[in-house]
Amino acid sequence: MALVVKKFGGSSVATTEKILAVAERILGEKKPEDKIVVVVSAMGDTTDELIALAEGIDKEPYKATYLREMDMLLTTGEQISISLLAMAFQKFGQAAISLTGSMVGVKTNSVHTKGKILDINPERVLEELNKGKIVVVAGFQGADNLGDPVTLGRGGSDASAVALAGALHADECEIFTDVDGIYSADPRIVKTARKMTEITYREMLEMARLGAGVMQPRSVEIGHYFNIPIHVRSTFSDKIGTVIREAYTLEDTYFEIRGVAHDRNVAKIAILGVDNTPGIAHKIFSALADANISVDMIVQSIRNLDKNITDMVFTIEKSDLSMAKKVIDKIAEKINASTVLVEEDVAKVSIVGAGMVGSPGVAAKMFGALARAGVNIDIISTSEISVSCLIKGSQLVEAVNSVHDEFFRD
Ligand code: ASP
Ligand code: MG
Repeated sequence: MALVVKKFGGSSVATTEKILAVAERILGEKKPEDKIVVVVSAMGDTTDELIALAEGIDKEPYKATYLREMDMLLTTGEQISISLLAMAFQKFGQAAISLTGSMVGVKTNSVHTKGKILDINPERVLEELNKGKIVVVAGFQGADNLGDPVTLGRGGSDASAVALAGALHADECEIFTDVDGIYSADPRIVKTARKMTEITYREMLEMARLGAGVMQPRSVEIGHYFNIPIHVRSTFSDKIGTVIREAYTLEDTYFEIRGVAHDRNVAKIAILGVDNTPGIAHKIFSALADANISVDMIVQSIRNLDKNITDMVFTIEKSDLSMAKKVIDKIAEKINASTVLVEEDVAKVSIVGAGMVGSPGVAAKMFGALARAGVNIDIISTSEISVSCLIKGSQLVEAVNSVHDEFFRD
């Protein structure tokens, strides 16, 4: 017997025909003794449509006062898909029940629209599985200690599925999506991108954090924590996809880098002419943290040796820009900064791979590839297993291709 959690994303359940096809596929593969939990996202672009509805009330629906109501609204998307999928199973003679995040005991913090799962009490799920039912669970949602709905950030159904797999001690978590696995770069941009059979949690987390859209970073972290193998595969074929796990199980494990990730959801903010004194960075970044805005690359540069003045440059997610602007304008006034500059035509290209530890010259190779493509590097940042460069957004496609060609030539 296997206990498996299967997650289907929005594009996999975009229409009622597709929902019926998902039910048929699951039943076609299910052995009688298998216990199956299916986590689903909202149908197609439902979440975007719900946000657009809210924009009809106020053009800025992500203001602090609205966040709880946004969650009340957004959680309805997944309620539509779970009920329809449970009905589809029943139509084919399979007992099934749909459950919301709060009904399956997904306990979250109270950070509305960007919540984190704190705990899952899967008793109800186990009860229903033991009655022989397929349990269909709404992804992307849980409830805080007041019982209020909280969503887990865009793409959060992955986190729901992996966390549920962890709480249930499932044998595997399968993520069904519209691509057939994890590639060495986004295949929509890089024609020669290669599909991987396996990737480690650490590398996948870094790829996801640096913009590879296939998996939400948080979900990879959760998978690592519970040590649940995550199989990313296509909804529309039965080909094996990519398994994310602790360590490689195949022979061929030498790679200089594992992949090239890119991120367009980046904006750069420069606060010019701030005092080079203790406490300034703290003031700026704690104000951003209080507004729940995460900062990525940070550079502080001394541009004038005799005057003790510095510039603070950093990047945030483009989607946080309007909120960040407000926070920064206030702080800039307080700390007497001369200018605040915002640049939106920026993007980040990164290389990732555990193999680069102790292999000098990898970063230089990347910079060479960017130079050959005529791409200027604005900011560089590194981690133990990655190197990232901030570049002009309009040059992203050339940059990603040139870097990928450099490392993946046969
Ligand atoms: N429906 C949510 C979204 O579009 C969650 C998900 O798809 O994972 O972000
Ligand atoms: Mg979605």
